[in-house]
Amino acid sequence: MSDRGTILVVMGASGDLARKSIYPALWSLYMHDLLPANTFIVGFARSKISIADILDKAFSPTEQEHAKFPGFSGINFYEYGSYSDAEESLLLSLRFDSIEEHFRQKHLSGHNRIFYVALPPSVYQSVTTLIKQVWMAPGEGKTTLVLEKPFGTNLGSCDELSDHLSDLFQSEQIRLVDHYLWLEMTGTIMTVRSVNSLFSQIWDKNFISSVLISFKEDFGTQGRGGYFDKSGIIRDVMQNHLLQLLCVVAMEIPCGCSQESAIIEKSKLLEAISPIDPDEVVLGQYIGNSDREDGYLDDPTVPDDSLTPTFATIVFHINNDRWKGVPFIMTAGKALNETKDEIRIQFKSSLMEDIGLDLKRNELVFQIKPVENVAMNVIINEPGLSPRLIEDRLSLDLRKHFSNHRFPDAYENLFAHLLGDGQSIGSFVGAEELRISWEIFSPLLEKIESEQWKPIPYKFGSSGPVKAGQLIQAKGFKGFETHLL
Ligand code: NAP
Repeated sequence: MSDRGTILVVMGASGDLARKSIYPALWSLYMHDLLPANTFIVGFARSKISIADILDKAFSPTEQEHAKFPGFSGINFYEYGSYSDAEESLLLSLRFDSIEEHFRQKHLSGHNRIFYVALPPSVYQSVTTLIKQVWMAPGEGKTTLVLEKPFGTNLGSCDELSDHLSDLFQSEQIRLVDHYLWLEMTGTIMTVRSVNSLFSQIWDKNFISSVLISFKEDFGTQGRGGYFDKSGIIRDVMQNHLLQLLCVVAMEIPCGCSQESAIIEKSKLLEAISPIDPDEVVLGQYIGNSDREDGYLDDPTVPDDSLTPTFATIVFHINNDRWKGVPFIMTAGKALNETKDEIRIQFKSSLMEDIGLDLKRNELVFQIKPVENVAMNVIINEPGLSPRLIEDRLSLDLRKHFSNHRFPDAYENLFAHLLGDGQSIGSFVGAEELRISWEIFSPLLEKIESEQWKPIPYKFGSSGPVKAGQLIQAKGFKGFETHLL
């Protein structure tokens, strides 16, 4: 057991992310005795609310869980103040002093501080300056700053944020979070591709024909399109979540599985991605349908003439020995026919295709949301006196298969890592890696915005613009329209 205490500060504790993800994850870790001893959690924001308000909104303990709630409540505090003014934030400083005194009485040798910044990006600069000026861990204590995406909106703003952070903090003090890297399935993908010789030996251009990474939501902006309209689907999920998934599929296996080696391998892979060809991009925007579901422009918070894409399909080419010639296709959209995130890896033509039979391809499918599933499409005989070749699926639904296991969510995995011994399945986003990711996306975004590309309208509840399906098929990916899991 560590002889140091830890103070986790949730900056923006009154917000949506704190309510939906941070506090439920911390509660779950506490419930399962996975929060290290001598950990205190201090919420901070401008709102004059109480810790009881925050916990109340974040989760409701079940009857069996009730006995543990006072213990969790006892390690949680909330203070209000300002994100830019030390004097107005005196209550947080006083809270640190009182917890420090508690640690001293317990004869701990000091404590570390983790600042989890769950705030809008507009506040990043002021709040990180304040942390550096007044709230760094005393003595030999470590200070860690954790930031959530978005990290800038283009290359210029990403550089500005990185320069600001590197003026104030050492690189090892900064942790950039993309929660997709902490999903259970992300770790499973890495294991499946690297540990099974069945896959590790064929994980390249000689055997894989294309990869499709998709993100689909069956709901629109639901009256909250104002925020989305400033980013659009490319900035919202592709430059970050889906690009991280692409890295997990395509990067070289990091040696030793350390955080640093994962970041190095992701950067190397991103460096090898060719500039995006605008002819390999399809944009869409949803419109209303006959079920009277509203279109994007009907959202009162969205400007009437908005050209913001709510759907995009983009093809990536990786110019390295392993992947040259294999299209990696990303497709993401709101208001589609289903909610599902998945990665589909299609293998090159089978013997059957070579002799002219039009069958689908062998395919390895990782479904990430809404259920975790690993499946393999194989070609088999349909039973009968005169068997026909058909494609069918070997499928492993992880939650059903491991029904006695607990499935920690991404934020539980993340906090277990941040607060615990650093062993983990996940990884962070490196500063250099982030810069390269913007080098990939910024030119395309500039072109789209300066040339005012008009997104193709698609109906709410459809599978997106037909042209996107055509692009995917033109890249050699089979069965896009017809496939149902
Ligand atoms: P949020 O609810 O909009 O904001 C969090 C808190 O920040 C608010 O409760 C508010 O607290 C303060 N705040 C809001 N607007 C502010 C402003 N203009 N100036 C100063 N303070 C302001 O944000 P969130 O959804 O929790 O997200 C936090 C961060 O995580 C964002 O960077 C977001 O992009 C990222 N993120 C969120 C999600 C999610 O599911 N929500 C997912 C991934 C990443 P007070 O008014 O009490 O100070």
